[in-house]
Amino acid sequence: MSKPTSKAEGISVAWPKSVTELHVHLGGSVPLYRLWETGIDRGVRGLGDGYEDFLELLCIKSDRVKDLDSYLEAYDRIELIQSGPSAVRESVIIAAHRAYRTGGMLQVGPGGEGAASAPLFNIRRLELRLNPMKRTGAVFLKGKHAGLYDVDRIIKAACEAVEDVELGFKGNMQIGLIFCFGRDMTFEANKTLAKKISFWRTQTDKIIGLDLAGPESVNPLSSPRRLNEMKLVYDLAGPGLGRTVHTGETLYTDINTFINTIEVLKPQRVGHPIAAFREYWYKDDDRGLKILQERKIVCELCVKSNLLTGAVKNLDEYKRIIATLEEFEIPYTFSTDAPSLQGTSLAEELMMLLNHKAASPQQILAALQTAERSSFLPKSNADRI
Ligand SMILES: [Zn+2]
Repeated sequence: MSKPTSKAEGISVAWPKSVTELHVHLGGSVPLYRLWETGIDRGVRGLGDGYEDFLELLCIKSDRVKDLDSYLEAYDRIELIQSGPSAVRESVIIAAHRAYRTGGMLQVGPGGEGAASAPLFNIRRLELRLNPMKRTGAVFLKGKHAGLYDVDRIIKAACEAVEDVELGFKGNMQIGLIFCFGRDMTFEANKTLAKKISFWRTQTDKIIGLDLAGPESVNPLSSPRRLNEMKLVYDLAGPGLGRTVHTGETLYTDINTFINTIEVLKPQRVGHPIAAFREYWYKDDDRGLKILQERKIVCELCVKSNLLTGAVKNLDEYKRIIATLEEFEIPYTFSTDAPSLQGTSLAEELMMLLNHKAASPQQILAALQTAERSSFLPKSNADRI
């Protein structure tokens, strides 16, 4: 591995050449200038009055977004633009290339264009997550289980796109798909998705994991019945897939629900487990942190996303999160969540932590190694990468 270095206010970091990113949503990782082109090409309505207006509609900015629910609004529009097998295929190819090309750049342009001369590193191992049911078309959003497009064709298109990207990179990039169940989907719809995953994972090795995403306000899983439904769909998708879950990002998930969710869904990793920190800091209750510690569950942290949703107040609070994780010896990783909507890159977010002294270079490098180690992707072949 070569060791390019960068200075963060005098701090020198020996970046690895290749980095693993674990937590990125397809809806948030196609650069907006490409999404605009797709929208035009497909004749999608509701793109605004022009490109600048489109950027304004979709960029997630702190002055407009107040919480997770308003953060997720952009996704509804994007999922429609990305509906159907051909749009999903195109989106996966673009999202993978975006990660490789601009994930290590210190700056990106307003539409997600690469804006730095050279990246600090390349994201060469990528876990990309999406909800295939939400790429079936608008009808789904009105409560039906299926939209215009066939979910089998969408899953197949996504997996084939991954195969083609890996072929194109001649083995220098490794990608896996995590399929997300929806908190805002009915049990029946999640069950349908689970059955589809169960079938398609026998046809391809590109499906590597399961996740649960969407607004906690709609279904925090505080009811035992709803939690059990989610256990059933995770189990139905089949054993052997990696398990992660978004939980504890908002106040809708109390600490008991957070703990129950982990006990019942048995994830190896967890996205944005902010509830565990809140409870420890303000109520002196360390049960959430203890369960993460005892089960060696990896915390997927997404800095800018957490700041935009208000899950974390500021970088000082992020510093406290990292210190708490170190105190409890809980492993953690850094990802971007929705780099294209946030107008950011992994390198930029890591540098933000360094410049604010919220994390040390050693902590950042250790988190990158944790991402490599805890990835659901099959072990990388060191000769290929
Ligand atoms: Zn996420």
